[in-house]
This record gives sequence, structure tokens and C-alpha cells, in this order.
Amino acid sequence: TENAEPLPIKRLQEALINRIAAGEIIHRPASALKELIENCLDAGSTSIRITSREGGMKLLQIQDNGCGIRRADLPILAERFTTSKLSTFSDLSRIATYGFRGEALASISHVARLSVVTKTKSDSCAWRAVYADGALAPPKAGQSPDPKPCAGNDGTVITIEDLFYNTPTRLASLRSTAEEYSRILDVVTKYAIHNPHVSFSCKKAGSTSPDVTTPSGSEVKQTIQLLYGHSIANELMHVTAQKSDVDLQPWEADVFCSNANYQAKKTIFLLFINHRLVECSRMKRAFEAVYSAILPKGTFPFVYLSLIVDPSSVDVNVHPTKREVHFLNEEVITERVCDAIQNELGKQSHSRPFQYQT
Ligand code: ADP
Ligand code: MG
Repeated sequence: TENAEPLPIKRLQEALINRIAAGEIIHRPASALKELIENCLDAGSTSIRITSREGGMKLLQIQDNGCGIRRADLPILAERFTTSKLSTFSDLSRIATYGFRGEALASISHVARLSVVTKTKSDSCAWRAVYADGALAPPKAGQSPDPKPCAGNDGTVITIEDLFYNTPTRLASLRSTAEEYSRILDVVTKYAIHNPHVSFSCKKAGSTSPDVTTPSGSEVKQTIQLLYGHSIANELMHVTAQKSDVDLQPWEADVFCSNANYQAKKTIFLLFINHRLVECSRMKRAFEAVYSAILPKGTFPFVYLSLIVDPSSVDVNVHPTKREVHFLNEEVITERVCDAIQNELGKQSHSRPFQYQT
């Protein structure tokens, strides 16, 4: 065919650019929730309450009892690249908090209706602010966009409504409300296990009984038992591994994993690297290989792994969603953790050669 005439190149509108960028960070209700939970934890909360309507697409609300947001910071809260957690480039390599680039709230404000009620300990009242497209917005047409004083507890309530109302392709890519809600519960469950000192609850709007609820001041093992049930309760092994003399970088692994008596239909793998929930399919496959030697075909283990590595050896900057993390010495660490699990599985099979199902 003949060469067509080139079409003119046009500059995209600012609002459209922002919406596209926001969709890169916020894929679905559960990814918005992950960002919000991390913010609550960064704020030192000991209680995090989540409410969802229609799988979080209609409403996602998260209440914490953390430090709150200063009234003076509210005007720039939802602007891109505004953060209280990072000020120099070198900070990136020793970042201890979850968030670091000030993009979550900004992104959410471009693809949903966002409002905030917040109170610091020293404030005499709470402040309510509404955001649209990165800036303060009037709650109703004709009203002032300025934050308004209101009643409220110490801490922050973030409300997201009508997620992706202005990005129909994102909205269309979502699954059923049931599927989105189960992803929400999955995120809450995993953060609750990794943060057993914090009380979590998650429920559907209008329901009186939460679907996930944990007490504060608990421990990882108890929380796994509470949330994954009795079948796993008696079959958990605690395994640790750490830097050996030949490793250059310090690292430390804390593992709770199932023994040979536990058989899941698919692998349950919870991976936190420096307290950030991430995915690493290479590691998951390595653990599956260890268990394939001892589990019946078609059955899989439960593995919770909290890995602490030198912050300078994790590339947190790899992708805005910060999910697939790359880190130095990944292969060595994976191998050592696998060895430690294998070792413990071996010990258990020696001390208990026959395990009768009851
Ligand atoms: P980041 O977490 O990368 O800094 P966010 O957009 O997630 O960016 O949040 C921007 C800022 O808003 C944070 O740096 C923090 O100061 C404040 N913030 C957000 N959520 C909370 C919260 N739940 N409690 C206290 N402060 C918060
Ligand atoms: Mg954040």
C-alpha cells in the first residue's frame, strides 16, 4: 500500500497526561489501598480501619490514628512530588518509610474524588479538604476550596469515591466487585500479618461485621493463624537466615512457612522486602522447588518472608508501583533462605517420621 501522509503531532492536554500517569500507579482499588495503608503506617498508626463499597470502586475509606497532617500542608497535599519523607537524592538509598515520591495522593486525585479529614494532636479541631486533579477543590459548586474545620479524632480519614470515573478504559479493565474486594482483603491480610502490632479491620460499607479484623499488639505467627485459619496453625515452622562472612552486604530473613503436613492448592507467598509488600516470581519458584521434593504433586506451601537488606542494595526506584523490587545478591540470598527452609523441613521429618492426619 501507499505511504500515508503523516498526521500532525499534537501536545496532549495536561489533564489527560496526568490521568494516564496516574493509571500507571493506581491500577485498581487494591493498589490505591496499598498506598494508603503504607501512608498510615508511615504516620505511626496503631489502628487502621478500612471500609469498601462495590469492591472499592464506589468507595474506599481508610481511617487511621496516626500523626495527622498539618493544616498548613493541606493545600499541597495532592500535588505531585510533595512529600514529608524525602528531600535529597541520596535519601533514596536509605529510605526507611514506604512512600518516597509523593505520588500516591496526587495520582488518586486525578482518577477519583478524593477527600481528607485530618487532625494532629496539637490541632484543636479536625480539617476537611476535598481534592481534584492535584489541587484543593470546592466541595460543592460555588463553595470555597479552602479546608474547613470540623469535628474529628486524632489521625486521618482518606475517602476515595468513584475510582476511574474519568478513565473509562481503566474502569473497564477492572473485574467484578467481588474480585476487586477479594484483592482488597488480600492486601489488608498481608499488611496485617507483617504489622501485627497494628490493629486492622476491613469491612463492606453497611455491614456490621468486618471480614478481616486483627487486634493490636499481636505477633506474626498468631496473626497468620488468625487470618489463614486452623489448618495452618499447627504446621508453621519459624526459620531465620542472615548474612554469612562471605557476603558483602548485611541481610536478614525471617520466615514462617508450612511443613510437610500442610498442602495448599496453590502457593501462598507473602514477601516483604524492607517492610514493603513486593512480588518476586523467581524467589517464589525457588521455594516451590524446595517443597516439590516433599509435598504430594499438585500441592503447595505457605511462605511468609520478611527480608531486610541494606537499603542501598534495593532499587526502590525501579517502577512507580514499587512492586517488582530488584536487589543486590538476590540469588545468594534466595539460595540461603531455601537451604534454611530445607534444613528445618529435614529436621522435622527426622523427629516426626510419621504424621497421622487427625
Ligand atoms: P509519599 O507517601 O510518597 O510521601 P503520598 O502522596 O502517599 O506520598 O503522601 C504525601 C504526603 O501526605 C506524605 O508524605 C505525608 O506527609 C502525608 N500523608 C499522606 N497520608 C497520610 C496519613 N494517613 N497520615 C499522615 N500523613 C499522611
Ligand atoms: Mg505514600
